[in-house]
Amino acid sequence: MPAPSLDKLLMLQECDSKRLGLEQQLRSTPREVAAVEARIAEERSAIETAKAEWQGLETKKKALELEIHVAEEKIAKYRTQQSQVRKNDESQALTHEIDTTQAAIGGLEEQEIAVLLSIDEAKKRFAAAEAELKKNITGHETRIRTLREHETQLQAELAAAQAASVAARPAVPPAYLRIYDRVATKPGHPVCVTVNGGRCGGCHLKVPTHIEVMARNGAEIATCDQCGRILYWQS
Ligand SMILES: [Zn+2]
Repeated sequence: MPAPSLDKLLMLQECDSKRLGLEQQLRSTPREVAAVEARIAEERSAIETAKAEWQGLETKKKALELEIHVAEEKIAKYRTQQSQVRKNDESQALTHEIDTTQAAIGGLEEQEIAVLLSIDEAKKRFAAAEAELKKNITGHETRIRTLREHETQLQAELAAAQAASVAARPAVPPAYLRIYDRVATKPGHPVCVTVNGGRCGGCHLKVPTHIEVMARNGAEIATCDQCGRILYWQS
């Protein structure tokens, strides 16, 4: 059993350790929420990208349709002109224009077919991106809600742990408190440790025999000469 005055210090250490652990957990929550939010944003962005791609192709299709329409009108105009000209060479020149424009229309129609196929592909990608978000969004939102709820719970626990730490301090002898406050407490790195097999339970280095004896007697404050932690004997 540790010396009676040490009991109070160990109690304070337990409160502080809990408090620090809670603070650490609370620090990680915003990061976890941000990661889920980033995932949602990524999935939304994939939908927007697919949509923009699809819309771009629709615009291209409309431009091609207009170009084809203009070319067809041009041919109709050439045919009207052709019916009005008397000279053979003029008629031949118009036939050449009609053929050239017809060939151009053929090229434009080929491009249109390619664009229509790309539109089908783009629609599929858009639908897939939407389905992906739809499939995941409930999970993402639940995860964020759970994290937020957990955060609220941790905050309440932290307030209780902080109050417990404050309440535990006055019972600890000042000599212990001075050392305790000097050696910074970190989660998982207690200031007050046991001596095991002649080694400090904190830094695991060998402690001199007289210090080990002091820790065993519990009458005086025994500290590790390497790391400064308070040592106690646990039988
Ligand atoms: Zn040590």
